[in-house]
Amino acid sequence: MLNGVHWIAGESVSGDRLFHANNPVTGERLEPGFPEATTGQIDSAVAAAVAVHESRVLFPAEARGRLLKAIARNLEEALPQILERGVLETGLPAGRFEAEMGRTCSQLLQFAETVSTGLFREPVMQSADLQREPLPRPDLRRRMIPLGPVAVFGASNFPLAFGVAGGDTASAFAAGCPVIVKGHPAHPGVCELVGEAITSAVEEAGLPSGTFSLIHGESFDVGVGLTSHAGISAVGFTGSQAGGLSLWRIAAQREVPIPVFAEMGSANPVFVLPEAINESGEEIAAGLAASVLLGVGQFCTCPGILILVRDENSEAFKASLSRELFQGPAGTMLHQGIHAGYQKGLQEVAERNGVELVGKGPTSSGSCDAEAGLLAADARRFIDDPVLQAEIFGPSTLLVECDDLEQLLQVASVLEGQLTATIHATENELADHPQLLARLEDRVGRLIFNGFPTGVEVGESMHHGGPWPATTDSRWTSVGMSALERFQRPVCWQGFPESLLPEDLSADSGSGIPFRLDGKWHGRPSI
Ligand code: NAP
Repeated sequence: MLNGVHWIAGESVSGDRLFHANNPVTGERLEPGFPEATTGQIDSAVAAAVAVHESRVLFPAEARGRLLKAIARNLEEALPQILERGVLETGLPAGRFEAEMGRTCSQLLQFAETVSTGLFREPVMQSADLQREPLPRPDLRRRMIPLGPVAVFGASNFPLAFGVAGGDTASAFAAGCPVIVKGHPAHPGVCELVGEAITSAVEEAGLPSGTFSLIHGESFDVGVGLTSHAGISAVGFTGSQAGGLSLWRIAAQREVPIPVFAEMGSANPVFVLPEAINESGEEIAAGLAASVLLGVGQFCTCPGILILVRDENSEAFKASLSRELFQGPAGTMLHQGIHAGYQKGLQEVAERNGVELVGKGPTSSGSCDAEAGLLAADARRFIDDPVLQAEIFGPSTLLVECDDLEQLLQVASVLEGQLTATIHATENELADHPQLLARLEDRVGRLIFNGFPTGVEVGESMHHGGPWPATTDSRWTSVGMSALERFQRPVCWQGFPESLLPEDLSADSGSGIPFRLDGKWHGRPSI
């Protein structure tokens, strides 16, 4: 049952300044109200998290694994309630919640498995060399330690997989950090239920209650207060560019600046080369339209820009794309804010000089229902007008028409940082244009050949990130096991005797953690 509460260090905590979620299909206000966190409540959550970090209780891999597995177990049990409330708060179909829950739990279990191998701790040791000339070398041992309490902000479009128990929380726990989540105000009920599942898991794993807190807030004040708090060591953010950059600026201006790992929006350009259109234009158009419409265009990997060369097949391709995009209503968007932002973004780009609104699809009557949109612009305009590169979050795409492949390369060269870029081409055609791959590789986190950008596999080789402004730091990913590397840092221990070293820095301890000693790996599983 929902009570409209925060979960602060194991306790359910209420408040008097309440906000409500709305049903995006009917517009109806949903009960109960949820409290806006006060400064005192933020302080309590952070103080409890700092105490957990200082106690080192999350340092052993075993404790982290226990917690991650317990969360997955509890979430699966809570699925019926989460699903029932989630459908009301988001308008997403029940099947989407089931799929997202599968992904969320599998992600938690993959992190538990990864943590148990000790792979990401990678202690590196160099024995002392007292005979070295001209100076002796001291004994040096380096290990990774958790950064400290992490503040997590989830996005509205993935209420589970990028929500309270999503990738940022799972990877921060896997790195050994306590977590404080600022719940998304569009789905506070889902946040409370997931928060309850994590709170119980913390207790079942025998860990101190300050390991996890969930606080709600509808105003920016709560997120700003959390990010500015001296006890917070890092921020994991998934959401809009405006939100991510705003928190990143606040974190950089603190007395002690901290990293903000913000994974933000992206326009995900798709290059469709002439031979590919000639060979399978209809099929590519159908696939692209499905990718644009998936989840009513509310994916950070939605293909928002399509680049092609004008030739004898390009008009037919454009016609196929319009037909596929405008077959029916695009669906209900997640909330009023996203719906209004989509309408505004589409209109702003359509009004830019040289942009044509090719068409809009049919709509239905719900207050958050969206229609698909197709815009077109000449490549020259696109190159000269940076506004055309902005993500329009919703089911629309901009077709950029080039005179030739040389101009298509120029378009690739002006692109800002992106999560993904996709190329549709025949193998020979792309082999003849290696510059395209080189230019794109410098601008994206993931390159896709003859596929579509939506659908991000969770796994060891995935990279879900990309150069600024797709993220605040292109070296990191928010999806896949390496996401945990964001929340740890190296420390070197110099000259300590065996008896004073932590277990994972002792070559003799038999801790089972793989380590590198004087240039050789020990105990590393063969791949
Ligand atoms: P959002 O509006 O930025 O919200 C994300 C969270 O940040 C919310 O809790 C929000 O709280 C908070 N927030 C936003 N601006 C803030 C500010 N100035 N100060 C303090 N807190 C702030 O994002 P969304 O609309 O939920 O999600 C859609 C966006 O996320 C799209 O642009 C999409 O491309 C992106 N996204 C990216 C990824 C990725 O992996 N890169 C994945 C999914 C989604 P309030 O609502 O209270 O403002």
